[in-house]
Amino acid sequence: TAYGFRQVGEGEKQDLVNTVFHRVAERYDTMNDLMSGGLHRLWKDAMVAWLAPSKRPGYRALDVAGGTGDIAFRIVDASRGHADVTVLDINGSMLEVGRARGEKRGIADRLTFVEANAEELPFEDNSFDAYTIAFGIRNVPRIDTALSEAFRVLKPGGRFLCLEFSEVDMPLLDKVYEAWSFHAIPRIGKAVTGDDEPYRYLVESIRKFPNQENFAAMITSAGFSRATWRDYSGGIAALHSGWKI
Ligand code: SAM
Repeated sequence: TAYGFRQVGEGEKQDLVNTVFHRVAERYDTMNDLMSGGLHRLWKDAMVAWLAPSKRPGYRALDVAGGTGDIAFRIVDASRGHADVTVLDINGSMLEVGRARGEKRGIADRLTFVEANAEELPFEDNSFDAYTIAFGIRNVPRIDTALSEAFRVLKPGGRFLCLEFSEVDMPLLDKVYEAWSFHAIPRIGKAVTGDDEPYRYLVESIRKFPNQENFAAMITSAGFSRATWRDYSGGIAALHSGWKI
């Protein structure tokens, strides 16, 4: 295949991911709705509800792999417009869409956009009250490095939350989900962007990602306390939580 995704190295993996998101940035939000049947909105709402950001000024959140801003906007709204949210993404095209959406919503003054790698955060230690990452960590080549960076930039008492596709643990639903991922998603990708290969790669990356329990263990290894998770939609997505104590 053009992408040869089965045996890519770490640098190559990141290049692939970058190509996919440069190409889809403008259509990313539409694709999300089509591919998840709108479910991603509910999962993201649930994520920010669990975060329950402070409604006082001074609360600082970092949304990594923040893309077009979905999580950042929800955090600003949930804080009644008080939180300062930094949206970090490796992809300038995604951030541009996010910036435009933020302006349209009239919350540009609460948002900062930073083009950088989750594996090397350009922030000082102990800088943020919360670190969020939604459907992003799966794309990062060195997940343990990204988790250590998350731990480093959080303030003591800070919260880590990660929303990601996970292991479906429901008879029947797992079969339906598998059919949807392997057949429908690449087709929708091809219909909307003209190319199915990047979507085969993304589906493959979901299959390879550690399940709920193993990912919780990785969060603990990075130094976080009280690593737990909640499943959504039978485990199609899972939300992991941890604290820097
Ligand atoms: N969080 C957004 C959401 O939930 O809608 C966007 C998720 S999108 C599926 C994945 C994002 O991860 C893309 O915007 C991509 O550019 C970003 N990304 C991939 N590798 C990254 C890395 N190493 N560091 C930071 N961002 C990365």
